[in-house]
Formats: sequence, C-alpha cells, structure tokens
Amino acid sequence: MIDIHSHILPKMDDGAGDIQESIEMARKAVDQGISNIIATPHYNKGIYENDKQKVVNETAKLNLVLDELEIPLKVWPGQEIRISDELSDDYDNNEIMGLNGSQYILLELPSNHVPRYTERLIYDLQLKRLTPIIAHPERNLEIMKNPHLLKEMIWKGAYSQITAGSITGKFGWRTKRFSKYLVQSGLSHFIASDAHNVGNRGFQLREAHKLIEKNFGPEIVDAFNENAENVLYGMKVKEFLFD
Ligand code: FE
Repeated sequence: MIDIHSHILPKMDDGAGDIQESIEMARKAVDQGISNIIATPHYNKGIYENDKQKVVNETAKLNLVLDELEIPLKVWPGQEIRISDELSDDYDNNEIMGLNGSQYILLELPSNHVPRYTERLIYDLQLKRLTPIIAHPERNLEIMKNPHLLKEMIWKGAYSQITAGSITGKFGWRTKRFSKYLVQSGLSHFIASDAHNVGNRGFQLREAHKLIEKNFGPEIVDAFNENAENVLYGMKVKEFLFD
C-alpha cells in the first residue's frame, strides 16, 4: 500500500516529535502493509516553516535511518500546504512542491470554513499545471453543511483525500457518516492515514480499507490504491463514479 499523507518526519510539525517516534511510525506503517509513504509536513507560514528543500533533506535523512535498520519502508517528500492567497508566489519561489514532486499538490483548508479565494487559488494553481488535492474535506465544517462547495471544486478539476480515521469513526459519527457519503458519491479519490504518531493519531489505513470493502466492495479499495500509486509516480488519477 501507498500512503500519500503523513506526518512521519521528525520535529517538523505536530507529527513525529523525534527520530525515535519516526522509526516507531515507520514500523507501524509496515505492519499496516504500507511500502511507500509520502511525508507531508505542514507548510503554513509563520507557524510551520517547512519549505521544499527542508522536506527533501529531512526525507533523505529518514530514508538513511530506515535503511540502516532494515525497515522496508520508502519515504518520499511532500507537503500539506495550508491555503493562502500567496501560494502561487510560493510555488514560483520554489518553497512548495507537489507530492513526490508530481503535479499533485496537497492543500489543507482551515477546519471551520472555505475561504472565498479558494476557487481562484485552485484556478491559479491549475494554470501552473498543478492539480490540487483537498486534504480531508470531511473534516471541514462548512463543507459538511454544504457539500456543494466540494462538488464545485471537484467539477473544476480538484481531487479530494479522505482520512482513514474519518472512515473508522475516530473523528465522531458525523464525520464518519459524511465520509461514507463522499465515497458513495464519487467525491473522494484517495484514502490516506494523515498519521501524526503511533498513539491517538495512528494509521488505520487497513481498518478503513476493510470498512470500505465491506460497504462498497473490493473494487473501490483497489481504485483508491491505484490512485495513490498514480500520485506517487505522477500519473493520471482515475475518477470513478458509482452508485
Ligand atoms: Fe495532515
């Protein structure tokens, strides 16, 4: 399995606190059946200053440690980028990057609303040949109240990633129910762990896949897996609608 959203790099954000915790997370990831993981530390100016070069360097360091310990997990660089109206400039200044350097850029919305400039931002990024992936829309209060906001973004070419813990119920029954609705409506293209640690914000990817398989069949799980692979290798993502 490939995990496209994780906070496994040490001391970058609210994820792994030190290298020991990164190693523990790596072992848990392997237990889950994950072979490749994209490290996506938060990029949020003034709060988390994790520019592209820093992430690339830290990813290389972690890979060396995992090699040394013979932990069969390969880490790739990425960022979870908090939206701001300066992102287009940040991209031009080489501060932000797509997932593993691909055209797929992982965007984080504020948790309580969708800023009015989001649509314009998506368009600006698309002009730069980037494809936005909206991280965990199921946890955004405004989208929960008005799913049409997400539909609009997807109609305009964005993708969305649901967090495994939302599917399993870690974030409450409303989020769980809404996640199910998004999967059912073809409004999500990826399931990822968004793992922060080995405790209360662990992986749960396998558990989420099992639930999705139970509710919607194995084909949808295969499609999610395939899409994660397509992102890792910068290939075209499948859009799937079913009911
Ligand atoms: Fe995250």
